[in-house]
Amino acid sequence: MGKIFIKKDREKLWYSGHPWIYSGAVEKIEGNPEAGSIIEVYNSRKEFIGYGHYNKSSKIMVRMLEKNGEKKVNLEWYCEKVREALQLREMLGIRSNGYRLIHSESDFLPGVIVDRFGDYLVVQASTMGMERDKNLLVEAFKREIPGLLGIYEKSEGDGRKLEGLEEKSGILFGDVPDEIEIYEGDAKFTIDLKGQKTGFYSDQRDNRILMGALSKGKDFLDVCSYTGGFSLHAMVKGAKSATLIDVSEDVLNVARKNLSGYEGVEYIKGNIFQVLRDLAKEGRKWDIVNLDPPKLAPNRRDLDKALKAYKDIILNGIKLTKNGGLLAIYSCSGAVTSSDLRMALAYAVKDAGVRAVIVNQLHQSQCHPVSVAVPETEYLKGFLVRIGE
Ligand code: SAH
Repeated sequence: MGKIFIKKDREKLWYSGHPWIYSGAVEKIEGNPEAGSIIEVYNSRKEFIGYGHYNKSSKIMVRMLEKNGEKKVNLEWYCEKVREALQLREMLGIRSNGYRLIHSESDFLPGVIVDRFGDYLVVQASTMGMERDKNLLVEAFKREIPGLLGIYEKSEGDGRKLEGLEEKSGILFGDVPDEIEIYEGDAKFTIDLKGQKTGFYSDQRDNRILMGALSKGKDFLDVCSYTGGFSLHAMVKGAKSATLIDVSEDVLNVARKNLSGYEGVEYIKGNIFQVLRDLAKEGRKWDIVNLDPPKLAPNRRDLDKALKAYKDIILNGIKLTKNGGLLAIYSCSGAVTSSDLRMALAYAVKDAGVRAVIVNQLHQSQCHPVSVAVPETEYLKGFLVRIGE
């Protein structure tokens, strides 16, 4: 097994519990380890501090897996991690059979994301180490999840490029149907498991259930609706109408299917930066305005631009909210903190000349736990605001 030694002045991150060791923090590598293999990690005093996945071609050279030198990172180890993750989800009383089972660092498995949909899993491996250990992961899921019928791999995204990996998709185990129905609260959704774009955002589950509960008799505006998650919850709970806006016709078509049993649903295909302005010009107003834009800041460098965009979206959203109505704004950009978003909200409220109070601070749902040591795992934040003249 290869060995890696950390520089003296670069040990802080590790001691805080953060599992990443950047290439710049490495003093020396011994034994010519292979990309993706498990290596032993030592501090500057040459004391063993744990095992990690190694990849020389990534800026994050090691992702720590285990501190205890007595343990081996093998099938039993992966089974233990999967059991722990399952146990947490079971304990939380999640109101859905669609949830995130493994949230990477938050479940002590850096480099893997796994979503569960009933008896099926969708797995995304984003590091060389997890790519190499994929068979162990698959075996662990088969052992630990009774009744598991299939595992589909959808390994995409920028993370893989940074690790020198190609995108990959396909069946890893069993049979995976094209579509599966899941429940979430009182709503039912059809999910296209293998689809390129139409997965399911379980990070918004708690917020969808909350917004549904507020929607009886209300007109609901669903901005960046995707496949209609928020609107379906609103309609299930007796909303008078729902208006969905999304730039993608494909996702609106799935939304049409999900909402086919309801009257009073309107679909607008277009870019929110234009559509929200047009609707305001027409003088239209809604009781509840739900603003769920895509990630606007990929990293801190884009923060200023992103905050301007958030402010613009909120300002236009306020113009579409009835006096005394509710507005929800979310940001799924890891680089935007809750206080950043709150600042954008404050500027928008001031420019709109309204009075606003925050009635709920919103967050990613519980199946996306936040690692105390890894702030990056807290990425979805939001505010529910009452708007008054
Ligand atoms: N609210 C959804 C998730 C939204 S994901 C849910 O709960 O399931 C973000 C959505 O924003 C995607 O569907 C994407 O197509 C859409 N989108 C991205 N940029 C957009 C733009 N400029 N205008 C309108 N929609 C946009």
